[in-house]
Amino acid sequence: MNSYIKEVLERTHKKYSWEHEFLQAATEVLESLNLIIERVPKYKKHRILERITEPERIITFRVPWQDDRGEIRVNTGYRVEFNSTLGPYKGGLRFHPSVTLSGLKFLGFEQTFKNSLTGLPIGGGKGGSDFNVTGRSDNEVMRFCQSFMNELYRHVGPDTDVPAGDIGVGGREIGYLFGQYKKLVNRFEGWITGKGLNWGGSLIRPEATGFGAIYFAEEMLKMKNDTLEGKTLAVSGFGNVAWGCALKASELGAKIIAISGPDGFVYDKDGIIGEKIDYMLKMRASGKDIVEDYVKKFSSAEFFPGKRPWGLNCDIALPCAIQNELDENDAKELTKNQCKMVIEVSNMGCTPEAIQIFQQNNIPFAPGKAANAGGVATSGLEMSQNSMRLKWDKNEVDAKLKNIMINIHNNCIEAADEYSFTGDYISGANIAGFKKVADAMIEQGLV
Ligand code: GLU
Repeated sequence: MNSYIKEVLERTHKKYSWEHEFLQAATEVLESLNLIIERVPKYKKHRILERITEPERIITFRVPWQDDRGEIRVNTGYRVEFNSTLGPYKGGLRFHPSVTLSGLKFLGFEQTFKNSLTGLPIGGGKGGSDFNVTGRSDNEVMRFCQSFMNELYRHVGPDTDVPAGDIGVGGREIGYLFGQYKKLVNRFEGWITGKGLNWGGSLIRPEATGFGAIYFAEEMLKMKNDTLEGKTLAVSGFGNVAWGCALKASELGAKIIAISGPDGFVYDKDGIIGEKIDYMLKMRASGKDIVEDYVKKFSSAEFFPGKRPWGLNCDIALPCAIQNELDENDAKELTKNQCKMVIEVSNMGCTPEAIQIFQQNNIPFAPGKAANAGGVATSGLEMSQNSMRLKWDKNEVDAKLKNIMINIHNNCIEAADEYSFTGDYISGANIAGFKKVADAMIEQGLV
């Protein structure tokens, strides 16, 4: 390993020894920059690695709210404003009991490179709270969102920091957050994306992460003179992202055969197509956070409690749920079952050991920061529409999204060819994302 990279990694590990997820992400990115750091001395001269691994600003705050029984509850709110070199901080808000500062630092760090890859003028950030949406009434969620905004509003804005949804933050939460911001600042502005279609949201935004991942898969297959036609796909999760994948995959002649939830996974031998895709939305809207109900409705399906879908025979695996959801054993299972390709749609969905297994077995692997960039890219398109006070039609947004995903794919390939080895999408994404941010940081001076 290059000595400068080694030095920075050692120092970061020592300084933030308890931030496991952040360290995992920083290690993965920095280790893949070996050749570019060796060849381009200005990055060391300007101490870019130390600067790029340190968030520009972190805000943490108390979120007090009252539940329906009148009990007072207190959660922690966060916003990690990681890097604003390429544009306003941009990245989702996650409401989930697993949310910690380490997790949000990893996500904000990843977001910086992902957003750079989109080619749009957006920096990187992430935020959220350890609040658990599951089982809460609409009123409780509204009161929580309002309290969260009572602090967050002063740190965000259309030219400062533009949050969006993520796990636990969908259309309902974005509505409540938006309403409270508008009330507090007395301005109707596009400071958050994923808004309702009647009040500034973009068409295709709900589908975008899933659509983008499938477009990326198409490009990877093209490199092998192959297409999605007839392929079987196993997906984890059953939220927006998995739903978007199912819609686009079935349109392109592929078949999703599995989805999963915290309770287990569903295998549908006939594929999740047509009304079954719409049913995914109904399950999500029920607020129960389980997938078992699917088998009560469709007899072609079987439910496997407590299991993940990686033991199935499938052509392509798409982890779409949460970080580190696919481990070494899952990777061995997929390899044994002749899986041909893995598209990581969740952020850092695969453990480093799992990725190693895929690499050893020459299974093409797309990292989340490239494959799932369609979501934030379409958020960028929502920001453009808000600034212009215009609304593009579905086809226009979809065509732009597709074009962005093709460019990301090609930039990964080119960067890997130049500074790593052919077909290494992980290094390709890290290098292509890094180069733009690092060069712009140097151009903007020591700030
Ligand atoms: N949470 C999504 C992501 O991880 C979307 C972020 C956004 O649209 O700003 O990229």
